[in-house]
Amino acid sequence: MGVIIAKSVNEACAVLAENPAATVLAGGTDLMVQVNRGTHSLETVLDLSRIPELKKWTMEDNQIILGAGISYTDLTHPQLSAFFPALAQAARTVGSPQIRNAGTLGGNLATASPAGDTIPVLVAMDASMQLKSSTETREVSITEFITGVKANALKPGEIIESIKVPIFKGPQEFLKVGTRNAMVISVVSLALVTDYLERKLRIGVGSVSPVPFRATEAEEFISDKFDWETNRNLSEKVINKFSELVANSTEPIDDHRGTANYRKHAVKVLAKRALERVSAGDIK
Ligand SMILES: Cc1cc2nc3c(=O)[nH]c(=O)nc-3n(C[C@H](O)[C@H](O)[C@H](O)COP(=O)(O)OP(=O)(O)OC[C@H]3O[C@@H](n4cnc5c(N)ncnc54)[C@H](O)[C@@H]3O)c2cc1C
Repeated sequence: MGVIIAKSVNEACAVLAENPAATVLAGGTDLMVQVNRGTHSLETVLDLSRIPELKKWTMEDNQIILGAGISYTDLTHPQLSAFFPALAQAARTVGSPQIRNAGTLGGNLATASPAGDTIPVLVAMDASMQLKSSTETREVSITEFITGVKANALKPGEIIESIKVPIFKGPQEFLKVGTRNAMVISVVSLALVTDYLERKLRIGVGSVSPVPFRATEAEEFISDKFDWETNRNLSEKVINKFSELVANSTEPIDDHRGTANYRKHAVKVLAKRALERVSAGDIK
């Protein structure tokens, strides 16, 4: 097995152009599980973990550009978590400290698991990905990028260079249910992001359909009922209706982690809890 350690994005893209069958490695926390299980064999490995550009973030207009090599630990840094509290909450729930130090945002997106914890948050925030090859740079929305269960829109020779995330004003929540409290894959996950300027509540849901998605009917209902001056005074009836709309938008399956019925119930609980927490936060 050959291992190539790239030092820049351009070098990585050039290597991939020459070796289209090379396997990209970032933190290795998904890839090495497959290798150890024998479900993925490696011939040439292209290691992105020592590319400084991929670990940086910058602000442009009202957006943050996150390098694909940013780790979960980086996402919980106060400088970043101030912009995206829900993304930081999601990052804090991932694996153990070792996994959070090694695992990257780009790796979570490329894996495209229905249970990937950053994905519902990024879906709620309409994030987009910059994909780069030796010949082209293109931008795709997160919904175009994730094309199915563990499937993405990367073309041969492309890597995820960065993730562009708009900044929203207002409280945010990320909640997940697993089979235990920590070191756990989501059975259900939900992100609620307030967009005070557009008077909109954005909801991303994970682990209850082939790909994480926005619960748009529930969004429209609650954005209309929300008191945008005080963000208080939501009636029990409105909260219940909202959580039912979120649950009705899901298509969960039975699997070894939970039944479809349990997931429908759990997503309702998470929707209600997230809304109550956002309503208690400082909206302005
Ligand atoms: C014990 C354990 C606990 C975990 N807990 C969670 C959890 O709670 N929540 C969760 O969501 N995930 C969890 N994971 C999964 C994993 O940690 C994450 O999905 C992580 O973000 C993967 O990132 P990575 O950098 O390690 O990717 P890698 O394993 O290096 O790569 C994963 C895939 O992405 C591709 N890839 C990586 N970076 C790029 C790039 N820049 N461009 C193109 N392709 C790329 C690789 O080729 C590979 O196919 C866990 C894993 C383990 C082992």
